[in-house]
Amino acid sequence: MCEVSRRGFLGAAFLSLAAEAELLADPPARPSEVGKIDLVAPDIYFHEGLVSDTADAVCNNGWILFEDYVLVIDANFPAGARQIIGKIRAMTDKPIRFALDTHHHGDHAYGNAVFVESGAVPVAHKGVIDEMKRHETGFFGGQPGPWEEAAKVRADVKASHLKPPTVLYSGELIFDDGKHRVEVMHLGVAHTHADSVAWLPKEKILFMGDVCVNGPYNFVGDGDVGQWIETLEAAKKLGAQTICTGHGPRSVSSVLDDQQAFFRELRERVGAVMARKQPGEARAQIELVRAGLKENKQIARYVGDRGSADDTFASQVEKVYLELTGVKLAELREERNLARQAHARSHGAAHA
Ligand SMILES: [Zn+2]
Repeated sequence: MCEVSRRGFLGAAFLSLAAEAELLADPPARPSEVGKIDLVAPDIYFHEGLVSDTADAVCNNGWILFEDYVLVIDANFPAGARQIIGKIRAMTDKPIRFALDTHHHGDHAYGNAVFVESGAVPVAHKGVIDEMKRHETGFFGGQPGPWEEAAKVRADVKASHLKPPTVLYSGELIFDDGKHRVEVMHLGVAHTHADSVAWLPKEKILFMGDVCVNGPYNFVGDGDVGQWIETLEAAKKLGAQTICTGHGPRSVSSVLDDQQAFFRELRERVGAVMARKQPGEARAQIELVRAGLKENKQIARYVGDRGSADDTFASQVEKVYLELTGVKLAELREERNLARQAHARSHGAAHA
C-alpha cells in the first residue's frame, strides 16, 4: 500500500465513511498524482500516467477489484502494462482477467500482449478491430504502421508485439458480481470511431478514455470534433460525479463541460474567423484563434502553448476547418506533420 496516495490511504485506513463522503463531495484541486495509486472508492483505483516519450505508463489506467478477478481499464504501453500489473499484484492475489482497451491507440492498447502473458484477455468495442485494420497496416500485412514507428522510439514496444483485443462487444458489455457493476459502452464517435467509456453506476464514477482528457492532450485526427461534442453530451447524461480522464488528473463532472466547451469554442472561433477564408488567408488566423481560446479560463488548459511539446493546436484547427468547410488547409501540412510528430513522440508514435 506504500504507493497509495495520501488521500486514498487516509480514506482506506483512517477516515470514517462520513468523512470520506465529505472528501468525495469536496475534492481537492488535483486529486490524483502522476505515478501514484489513487483510491477512488472501495476496490476502485485510478493511476495517472505521464504524457512523455520516456514514461513507462503514458495513459491513465483504472482497475476494479471484483469478487473473483480484476478488470483493468486500458492496457497502456508494454512498460506501463508491467508497471500497472506490478502495482495490482502488490495489493491483491486476484487474477487480472480483463484489460479494456478504450480505443486502439498505442498508449492504450500496445500493452495487450503483456496482459495476455499474465493471463488476461484484451477487451474492446468491435470497432477497435476496424480501427486497427485501418491504421496497424504492418500487422495486417501492409506497409509498416504506427506500431513499427513506436518500436523505433520505445524499447518496450520493440520487444513486444501487437495483440488486438479478442473479446469484442457491440452495444454494451457489463461486468457485475452483485457488489460492483461496470457498464462498458460506446457513446458515439469522439476521439476515434470506437471509443469505450466505463460507467460505474453505484459509485457514479466514469472512466472516459481519451473521450475526455484534462489538459492539452486532445488528438483529433482519428475522430470528429463535431460528433465528439454530442458524445460528451451523452456522457454528461449518465450523471457521473467522478471523472477518470484518459490523460491528466482525475476530476469531477465539470471536466466534461470543460472538454465540451473547448471543442464548442474551437469550432465557433474557427467558423467565425477562418471558415469563410481561403486556406492561405485562414492559416494566418490560427494564432488569433489560439489567443482567443486562451482567454477563456474554463478551457485555457486545453490549448497547447505555441511551440511546446504539447502543441497540437494547428492540427486541431486544421481538423475543425476541414469539418466545417470540407477543404484542407493544405498550407498547414508542415505544421500538421510537426504536430503529429510531437504528439507521436509523446504517445510513442501511436497517432502517427
Ligand atoms: Zn488516443
